Amino acid sequence: MSELKTSLLPEMTDVWQQTLSWQPDTVGQLQFQCLYDLILAGNQRLNLTRITTPEEFWEKHLWDSLRGVAPLWQSVTSPQRAIDIGTGAGFPGLPIAIARPDWHITLLDSTRKKIAFIETLLPQLKLENAVTLVGRAEEIKRISQHRRSYDLALLRAVAPASICAEYALPLLKKEGLAILYRGQWTDEETDALQPVVKKLGGVIESIEEFTTPISNSQRTCLYLRKVLTTPAGFPRAAGIPPQTQL
Ligand code: SAH
Repeated sequence: MSELKTSLLPEMTDVWQQTLSWQPDTVGQLQFQCLYDLILAGNQRLNLTRITTPEEFWEKHLWDSLRGVAPLWQSVTSPQRAIDIGTGAGFPGLPIAIARPDWHITLLDSTRKKIAFIETLLPQLKLENAVTLVGRAEEIKRISQHRRSYDLALLRAVAPASICAEYALPLLKKEGLAILYRGQWTDEETDALQPVVKKLGGVIESIEEFTTPISNSQRTCLYLRKVLTTPAGFPRAAGIPPQTQL
């Protein structure tokens, strides 16, 4: 068996503070390291991520996951119930569960083997505020436990923005927030997304553009607020081509 070498994650205390006015405590830092070690080990079998150096993992998986929700840390005081739709190997949901032990995170993915892998991580990370769910976003809203149940829905690298909105809005409580993690973003894309979000009972509340702190990569987070009940029938059934416009 090949020997598995892992490296120490950088602490980046100053960067955490400068960018998010936050830093992990000792337990959080140990959990981040443990997550990194376990993902690297799992990668040998499961091909979970291309991001493997400590710096890249810190920036693209830890920092990026938290950057999307950190703006809420000032304004939101009650514990949030969040769903990470298309979580893959657990991003952005796992770093958020580590950073916010008071929040409750559901990690959803349609790929059983990815969810089975995350299941093995949770006890090792000693995370008691995260649960997993195998399924498609189009299907779980039929289960009353999930419909209109979440304060937050998070989607990173899952589908075109309009499809992400369609997955997220039905699962949110009224006044809930969907956060779409995107790369580059244009005004034309905003114009195209606006009517789709409206049809789903939401509004584009804000759009934040920023660069990542190590590689200066362009990122955009879209914040969609649910203001009305989403009409029945959304999201449309699986199999309807994702490109189909609403
Ligand atoms: N969010 C992770 C993974 C992105 S890859 C990250 O940023 O690293 C996209 C993931 O979404 C895949 O694991 C895929 O299985 C899942 N996925 C795609 N469509 C889905 C759907 N309709 N419902 C649930 N999961 C979906």
